[in-house]
Amino acid sequence: MTTTGNTVAVALSKASQEPDSRESQCKEMAKRNEENRKNAPGKLEATKQNEHRKSYVDKIDESLDKLDGGGMTFASAFVDVGIGGGERLRGMMSACSDAKTQECLQDALVPGGTDEMRAGTQTILCEDAAYAHPGGGFGSHAEAKILNEVTSMAKGRNLAGGSIMFRTDWHYDSPKGGTYSSGMPCAVCYRAMCAATDCGIDIYLCNAKSEPVRFNPDGDCKKEKKKSDPRDDSWDRLDRAMGEDPLTGRGVVL
Ligand SMILES: [Zn+2]
Repeated sequence: MTTTGNTVAVALSKASQEPDSRESQCKEMAKRNEENRKNAPGKLEATKQNEHRKSYVDKIDESLDKLDGGGMTFASAFVDVGIGGGERLRGMMSACSDAKTQECLQDALVPGGTDEMRAGTQTILCEDAAYAHPGGGFGSHAEAKILNEVTSMAKGRNLAGGSIMFRTDWHYDSPKGGTYSSGMPCAVCYRAMCAATDCGIDIYLCNAKSEPVRFNPDGDCKKEKKKSDPRDDSWDRLDRAMGEDPLTGRGVVL
């Protein structure tokens, strides 16, 4: 792995090395997400002081509001994936759903692939997956940015095999009041992770106890969203495997 600023970036590796335990990686990612969320307001405020364009200042204020309540996701991932020729991408990266926060915390957060990947006009992962994010901002979600970034780092080579373990820290406002946190991806990022499994990549999610939850254990990503019986929905099953309440995630944060 190489170090760039505060970021431990994913790097090409041929060496076989014993990875840290998944539990300790989950803990490390929780710490990194917390640090990024804690550092974001100060960085945004500092940028605002040097900025006179109203539209830019308004955007920063929107970001500060989201940080204050719900609406912003920080995520990290431990990546260990093959890209052919015996080479692997291996290491940890972090991302945020908010563009201004990413700009202000560039040392800690990856940009998340190309503009086209984020807009959903460029496919990611591998040819077999044939996956592009839907439009409308989904390609800029934190977990989507991580998958985009890994694709960019592969420089046109297919991702093939290995694993990606995510730790998502999503804060959201409930219509009934209160701000909650969740370690779950949204249904659209879930589909992107399903697409990664089509490249032979095992997906894990860290739950609130820093336990790795193997993603899609039944291999039934394709069967999601059976509206007749939501309990059969694989995304909802994942929710239960993560030990989260469908409405309130893993609890109140504020
Ligand atoms: Zn998402």
